[in-house]
Amino acid sequence: AKKQNKTLDARQSSGINPWTGKAYSSRYQSILQTRLKLPVYKFQSELLEAVADNQIVVIEGETGSGKTTQIPQFLVEIGYATPGKSCVGCTQPRRVAATSIATRVAEEMDVTLGKTVGYTIRFEDISDPNETVLKFLTDGMLLREAMSDPFLSRYSCIVLDEAHERTLATDVLMGLLMEVLPKRKKGSKHGELKVVVMSATLDAEKFQAYFGGAPLMKVPGRTFPVEVFYTAEPERNYLEAATRTAIQIHQCEGPGDILVFLTGEQEIEQACEEIRLGAQDMGKDASELVVYPLYSSLPPAQQRKIFSAAPGPKVVGGKPGRKVVVSTNIAETSLTIDGIVYVIDPGFSKQKVYNPRIRVESLLVSPISRASARQRSGRAGRTRPGKCFRLYTEQSFHNDLQETTYPEILRSKMSNVVLTLKKLGIDDLVHFDFMDPPAPETLMRALEVLNYLGALDDEGDMTDLGRQMAELPLDPQLSKMLICSPDYNCSDEIVSIVASMSVPQIFLRPRENAKAADEAKAQFVDNTSDHITLLNAYATYEEIPQAERRDWCWNNFINDRSISSAESVKKQLKGIMRRLDIPLVTCRGANGSFDTNAIRMALTSAMYMQTAYLQSAGNYLTVKDNQIVYVHPGSSIDSKPQWVVFEEFALTSKNYIRTVTTTRGEWLVEMAPHYFDLENFPECEAKDELMLEYKKLARRMTR
Ligand code: ADP
Ligand code: MG
Repeated sequence: AKKQNKTLDARQSSGINPWTGKAYSSRYQSILQTRLKLPVYKFQSELLEAVADNQIVVIEGETGSGKTTQIPQFLVEIGYATPGKSCVGCTQPRRVAATSIATRVAEEMDVTLGKTVGYTIRFEDISDPNETVLKFLTDGMLLREAMSDPFLSRYSCIVLDEAHERTLATDVLMGLLMEVLPKRKKGSKHGELKVVVMSATLDAEKFQAYFGGAPLMKVPGRTFPVEVFYTAEPERNYLEAATRTAIQIHQCEGPGDILVFLTGEQEIEQACEEIRLGAQDMGKDASELVVYPLYSSLPPAQQRKIFSAAPGPKVVGGKPGRKVVVSTNIAETSLTIDGIVYVIDPGFSKQKVYNPRIRVESLLVSPISRASARQRSGRAGRTRPGKCFRLYTEQSFHNDLQETTYPEILRSKMSNVVLTLKKLGIDDLVHFDFMDPPAPETLMRALEVLNYLGALDDEGDMTDLGRQMAELPLDPQLSKMLICSPDYNCSDEIVSIVASMSVPQIFLRPRENAKAADEAKAQFVDNTSDHITLLNAYATYEEIPQAERRDWCWNNFINDRSISSAESVKKQLKGIMRRLDIPLVTCRGANGSFDTNAIRMALTSAMYMQTAYLQSAGNYLTVKDNQIVYVHPGSSIDSKPQWVVFEEFALTSKNYIRTVTTTRGEWLVEMAPHYFDLENFPECEAKDELMLEYKKLARRMTR
């Protein structure tokens, strides 16, 4: 390792960038100076030695110590990657982290993003198979790559970052690596595979044990004490409390930037607006306050703004300005913003919850864990002593919060993962080495759903349909819909719908302009289907000339960025469809209108497991699970149809179903008699109705 280090030093002093053959820029030199101060540098040789001697190494390090940005670079510099042959991959649980870190690392290495350093997230591959030596990718994408490359042969080294987050995909990857590593020992066909597991918390020992006693390295961070404040009484409205606290800090506290944790885009935008207004109210004499949001659907250029320095004083010698970043959980461990001195922690984040009994997976705003709360407060002590304002009581911290969050695998529906594992040839799910095995009921449910969809046969073996479904980077139900859509002569329409559903909300509805937004949306509304409403908007957009699209979006309250990503998603899905021989056919008539019945049949053919039936009492009941649900007020459906299928079951204050389409009893019994099997059906009005439908069907058949 000593010798290797010398080559690094030599390279750095030669002044020539080996990746580009050009002299290093002055920006490279200045970033290098800050990089060299990061705590991981002290461990560089020790770490590389551990990696050289072991197939797996676990690293535990304080957030901000330089793990994510530096360690993959160390591995690349020491020679683990060869352009066109092998590369170092670093996984991230979040898309924003993958793109943002790849951008930063390309800057640090003084190379072009998409060439030497790249990233891959779903529907976006900014990497070059012939040049990329360091690739950041979401854990889900690496899992997807494993399907076509089961030995992960293009990687010489995989860094599993943010392992403490225990996302579903990271957990599955760990299990998968346990199977792959013995086949990728030194001298094996694809060469040795190294794995570095990185975690920000003390869980590292659990990883070490799981990986059969791999060496554990600890990288201490550079942190300063953080004083923690609690509220005396519980806060009724954490959003209001958070903005109020931010403004108070700006007014009363010394210099230093503020980080506010909220749960999602809407809340974050609202808080940003209110903090800006509050700062204006302070008058001209107050120092400047700039506010930046951070959430995953934000355009990358705006995401990068969080790293810009706070404004200086308004007048020479005056009080310096301040930066406020209002962020989702992403700033908890994935991204480190230097200069934060104050943290505001309302104690909530959006978390996935799954109820296997009713097969509903949803994102709910839920209390965070004590471990998360500690991470959040730690963000205040990066550059000097800081303060953390927890917007809950101290008693609540100790008594109400859980110590750690349950791993996602225990909170997810597993159908997608099970399909992936089956495709990877892992048949014995019960004995697959999960770090925390999912509940048997959840696995059973997943197998059952895949069997209903026809992806697995009754023996649990993958069918041809299942193999095709696994090729599509979509939820199994959507994959099935796309594959079956040519039967209804509308695959062009279904691929547009699926693409539009794979991006952030296309219809904008700003609070202050809700009426105008609703009027704009009305042009696209099909009152039998939210899916078709979406299709109408998308299809109109496709026909607008490129140069006029921005204006058109603006005038029609359409999210420009979302709908243009939908277009790129559609293009990619069409590519996969071509490869899988799924014909592209349209149900559009000569007059340009869609055969909406055909589209609703195609939707029903894959969504029948999410059906609701209108009770005579006037409310909807989900079929088979008998949950009372309400059609979301934002839906295009204005009457109360007897049968509906729905995309999403949102467990909020009221059980809303969203993205809803009218369907028919006769379609259900024709398409899914194996699911609507009345022998195993709870007594309900829907059952009586289905019984009639079966009788009608029998009559039609005998005629
Ligand atoms: P860790 O993974 O250990 O939490 P990182 O490698 O993410 O640490 O961060 C190391 C340092 O790099 C931090 O000081 C962080 O602020 C800085 N950094 C990361 N991304 C950027 C960026 N886009 N612009 C400026 N600084 C950045
Ligand atoms: Mg990191």
